[in-house]
Amino acid sequence: MDLTRLTIHEIQQLLARREVSATELVRSVLDRIGRVDGQVKAYTTLTEETALEQAETVDRLRATGTPLPPLAGIPLAIKDVICTQGVRTTCASKILEPYVPPYDATVIRRLKAQEAILLGKTNMDEFAMGSSTENSAFFQTRNPWALDYVPGGSSGGSAAAVAADLCAASLGTDTGGSIRQPASFCGIAGLKPTYGRVSRYGLVAFASSLDQIGPFTKDIRDCATMLQAIAGHDPHDSTSADLPVPDYGAALTGDVRGVRIGIPDDYFVEGMDPEVESAVWTAIRTLEELGGKQEKVSLPHTPYAIATYYLVATAEASSNLARYDGVRYGYRTSKPADLLEMYQRSRREGFGPEVKRRIMLGTYALSAGYYDAYYLKAQKVRTLIRRDFERAFETCEVIVTPTSPTPPFKFGEKMDDPLQMYLSDIFTISVNLAGLPGISIPCGFTKAGLPIGLQLIGKPFDEATILKVAHAYEQATDWRRRTPPV
Ligand code: GLN
Repeated sequence: MDLTRLTIHEIQQLLARREVSATELVRSVLDRIGRVDGQVKAYTTLTEETALEQAETVDRLRATGTPLPPLAGIPLAIKDVICTQGVRTTCASKILEPYVPPYDATVIRRLKAQEAILLGKTNMDEFAMGSSTENSAFFQTRNPWALDYVPGGSSGGSAAAVAADLCAASLGTDTGGSIRQPASFCGIAGLKPTYGRVSRYGLVAFASSLDQIGPFTKDIRDCATMLQAIAGHDPHDSTSADLPVPDYGAALTGDVRGVRIGIPDDYFVEGMDPEVESAVWTAIRTLEELGGKQEKVSLPHTPYAIATYYLVATAEASSNLARYDGVRYGYRTSKPADLLEMYQRSRREGFGPEVKRRIMLGTYALSAGYYDAYYLKAQKVRTLIRRDFERAFETCEVIVTPTSPTPPFKFGEKMDDPLQMYLSDIFTISVNLAGLPGISIPCGFTKAGLPIGLQLIGKPFDEATILKVAHAYEQATDWRRRTPPV
């Protein structure tokens, strides 16, 4: 049996029946990383030694007969934007390359409290800015389905690691689509929770009003398990919601009869790849066969979503990234003539081109004289986008769309044209602006064998319903059983 292929719930059973030990499991995943990650390049940092130590601890606890939490012994990978105590956290940026956090993010503390095993940190677009992981300052991560294609981004390393069986599940972050789009490109499940569902404490901020941490998994049951582990109020994050966390596993009933499925006509517009469009319509028919009811909904402010996002997100980024000045964190230039030159050269040498573009855009949008015309206007449009969803959810429980307008693209295809790259987030960005939960699940493959993703959007804090519908769809189809050639 190939242990690396297993889902979390399959591993749980084997561990409980003592058919494998956590140590055997971790060894086989590390072994596969050694053989395969040279091609995929998902990891920026590996923590083999501590992973094996953690596995031994789990095995020792198991031997005593202590009942163990659901994630005990499960090997996980973490996007390199989430702080891990004593383990380098680079944000795939030169400016944070040497940074070793003195503390764990809340999500990491929660995973460790369950005795989950951390295998390492994964590659990403620098500071989570991008849609292909090509903006990493270190190297490119490849799509396990076809190595000359991008894995999506910005959480490309975390998505590729799950797809290529280099971990059982992983964490990513999503500010405008960075969990859902790479999940779609890599043929796996990826969930962005409601804003406030999961603590952002210890997440290096890109755009604080949009960022959320969420899981990548091999199937929906695992997605529910991972969300269960990381969700909930945290006094360290004032934007985390003090609301009860439902039992997500219990929501996976397989029964979606009578669930109203909203189809936004504003999303099925020109420019969508025909193979994506046909896969999504086929998926919608499958949901109908399962008893779902199609409802037409309208999200009329969709055409303004990208412009709104690139004002709000860059404004917040310009402010969040002001702290990287060479004084307290990471990279500092050598032999500056004076303090000002130290700031300037540290930032010029430390940040990559996309990050600089965003800082400049955001600074401009916030500057005196332009604030009202850009930032304030964008905030108003954001409210209109949120209201679109509120109205749409009066007549449905779930909204279904493609995750991305195109299948995975090749390296370099969109790098010279930032606007083309930004357009690939057209279906995911509004969900962040409205603060809603969204999930991407595999719904087919192109003729060339590249994955296509379906997005399910839910009401605020109703992750349970999108998980339920995604699970029923997954049970009715067998996309999940295909494995990438790598
Ligand atoms: N691709 C979008 C961007 O470049 C979203 C990134 C994200 O969700 N972190 O900003």
